[in-house]
Amino acid sequence: MTCNEYQLKAAATFIVEGEMKIPYLALGLVGEAGEVAEKIKKAIRNHNSDFSKLDRDDLKRELGDVLWYIATLSRELGLELDDVVTTNLEKLSDRKERGAIASTGDYR
Ligand SMILES: [Mg+2]
Repeated sequence: MTCNEYQLKAAATFIVEGEMKIPYLALGLVGEAGEVAEKIKKAIRNHNSDFSKLDRDDLKRELGDVLWYIATLSRELGLELDDVVTTNLEKLSDRKERGAIASTGDYR
């Protein structure tokens, strides 16, 4: 499955209508990313930072939720997911070539 194929299938499960679609998706993305972070945080507290004890299946589902929001928000913004991932890899590759991965700033 390509990223665009995933994006299309994900969009078929998006039921919110109207002008609040984009804010809804942005909030959902942050919420699902928070769920991932919360599970990692709990491994620090409950398992003395032993991340081997993380429930991979549970994290897989939460990461999938993050992906759904990224795909669906991208689509609502008129962006193909294939383009989003390609642009991201190109950006990171360029930073790596210039030794700028570890520095700061959105446009480095
Ligand atoms: Mg979730």
